[in-house]
Amino acid sequence: MKRQEREAGWARSDVEGDRMLALSRRLESARQRSKYLERLLVLSQVLTTEATKDDWPRRVASRVVKAVGCNWAAFCVAGREVDRIILHRRHGRAPEVTIRPAGFLRRAAGEAWSGCLPLQMRAARFGLPDESCWYLPVQWKQRVYGTLVLSAKGLGHPASCPDRNELLATLAHQVALAADLSELHDKVVQAATFDRMTGAHNRGAWLERAEQRLEAVRHDQRKAALLLCDLDNFKVINDSLGHAVGDDYLIECAAAMTTVLRSADLLGRLGGDEFVIWMEGLDRNVLAGVVERLLTRVSAVSSRFQKRLKADSVLLGISMGVVAVDRNERGQVDQLLEKADAALYEAKAAGRGTWRLARGGSGGNAVA
Ligand code: GH3
Ligand code: MG
Repeated sequence: MKRQEREAGWARSDVEGDRMLALSRRLESARQRSKYLERLLVLSQVLTTEATKDDWPRRVASRVVKAVGCNWAAFCVAGREVDRIILHRRHGRAPEVTIRPAGFLRRAAGEAWSGCLPLQMRAARFGLPDESCWYLPVQWKQRVYGTLVLSAKGLGHPASCPDRNELLATLAHQVALAADLSELHDKVVQAATFDRMTGAHNRGAWLERAEQRLEAVRHDQRKAALLLCDLDNFKVINDSLGHAVGDDYLIECAAAMTTVLRSADLLGRLGGDEFVIWMEGLDRNVLAGVVERLLTRVSAVSSRFQKRLKADSVLLGISMGVVAVDRNERGQVDQLLEKADAALYEAKAAGRGTWRLARGGSGGNAVA
């Protein structure tokens, strides 16, 4: 072979070699990208499953660290009252939570707050480890839930990837979708549990919870009480002042009752002007005091509405039938309600604005 032909052959094989090298680099990049996307898909599934649990924001950062391999990640949640920064380090066990006043994150992020691109900045501005980080806005439909801050160290594929921004934005997008799902879930639970007007538990939710409480009372040998409350002459408000005023009256009466209750007490609206309360851990004489306080607080609301009524002959107020429950109680909540209803009937018959204790309770208010 002549020298010229040999050299042409070498040049051809150099070009082929370069092409092969470029091709294998592209293949490797595509392989890494698909691996990364696969991990994002798994992350997305995990986040959507966990978004309906109460403590889901505490888990986000650790899931992200696992998915993208960075040294640490922080899920920074902007709240109405406080901002929460939940940091998870790669080998850390539990997240480190820092509470800041509301607005802290927005101020620290500056113009990046409602942007949509991942940006590189110093993490120290969020009170996080003083190193370079990726700032990813977590937002969905104009609503900024917070930010995701990732340590730039240890971040796998996206660091060198040409479509790095797109991959990081996808990550933040998944967290935003989970945040949105969680909020939606809270709204559904809220609507299924509480009476929209008064904020008390609705009938179904109250009965379900009361059954559980009754079981626990039997098991733990605690004392409990069920108070069935019905407003007196409520129809007169509706008839004289209209339904809207009737609604206001119901709302204010429920709010007045709430001021007497402890956080563990269970207030429900069974329907119309009928409320029910489940309380635990009260001795009989303390219970009587609480019932009297409930009557007094609601009476204060009633007197205000009474002034708006022309007729003095009709007295607004509240009547109650009370059942004391102990570990020997055999009945279900339905049966307790029946007993309370009988006692309530007695209270109404005795002139309203008073209460009666069912099942041989002591004192002047006891039903025989
Ligand atoms: P009593 O002293 O015997 O309890 O008489 P009452 O006038 O309070 O009558 P009752 O408890 O039987 O009637 C409750 C009324 O409440 C009947 C219904 O028209 C009205 N009501 C039920 N739900 C609502 C509501 O959501 N808003 C308003 N404004 N009224 C309601
Ligand atoms: Mg009534």
